[in-house]
Amino acid sequence: MEFVTRFAPSPTGLLHLGHAHAALRAWRAARRAGGGAGGRFLLRLEDIDASRCRAEFAAAIREDLAWLGLHWDGEVRVQSAHMEDYAAALDALAARGLLYPCFCTRADIQREVAAAGAAPHAPDGSAVYPGTCRALAPAQRRRRLETGERYALRLDIGRALATLAAPLDFEELGEGRRVCAPERFGDVVLARKDMPASYHLCVTHDDALQGVTLVTRAEDLQPATDLHRLLQALFGWPAPRYAHHRLLADAAGRRLAKRDGAPSLRALRAAGFSPAAVLAMADPDGPGGRL
Ligand code: GLU
Repeated sequence: MEFVTRFAPSPTGLLHLGHAHAALRAWRAARRAGGGAGGRFLLRLEDIDASRCRAEFAAAIREDLAWLGLHWDGEVRVQSAHMEDYAAALDALAARGLLYPCFCTRADIQREVAAAGAAPHAPDGSAVYPGTCRALAPAQRRRRLETGERYALRLDIGRALATLAAPLDFEELGEGRRVCAPERFGDVVLARKDMPASYHLCVTHDDALQGVTLVTRAEDLQPATDLHRLLQALFGWPAPRYAHHRLLADAAGRRLAKRDGAPSLRALRAAGFSPAAVLAMADPDGPGGRL
């Protein structure tokens, strides 16, 4: 089987050293695969959130990676150009009765959760959806749809789990198998009111479509892998292996993030750093590296 990795940033800002770290991991894993024979390293732009993504950042990603010498194989998949693929995947889940429309606003959910007392929290920190719209009577649901009320689509996680033949797990590279607990997410949103598909759906769809065999990404996304395994199982998509890596930290131990003022690759370039110097700063074979 071919060895395929990917770097899948969202063009919501300029790349910084943390991104270079992530890209270098995926690139290096591909280049070292098969005893040096090499695999494929793909670039995918996860730009479904039109309110946050910008064409100039997408262009800058290509330019910065090329400047670093992290060349990708084949065409770049730009998610926003494939919305019909994600819609078809949602239709397939809906046809199996695994989705339902949710009309709740954030305030509605907060109110429900407060009324219920202590609510469980999903791994991303949000309150688990209390299931209000799952419980709507069919006639009531129809009426609200007919009036044109806006809705999100949620996965009925109880039903989804009931379709599984076996418990889910995944292989964390170098660490063995990890058992998944996707139920901790509750009924997740797979299509938002203002966005026709969610990150979870698009990322698993595309990893399968593109034949990705090793997903390298930061450890903050590791909890989401449980949910991604569930989607893969529902669709019959293959399970890639996963290598979740530590976030690159600065000298003071703070994680590098745009909002914390991490310097962009462009700023480093403008300050006279060479690609080799920037790659050395981003090198995952430094502290915490595994690939
Ligand atoms: N697009 C996601 C991000 O920029 C990463 C996707 C992934 O690696 O699963 O955070």
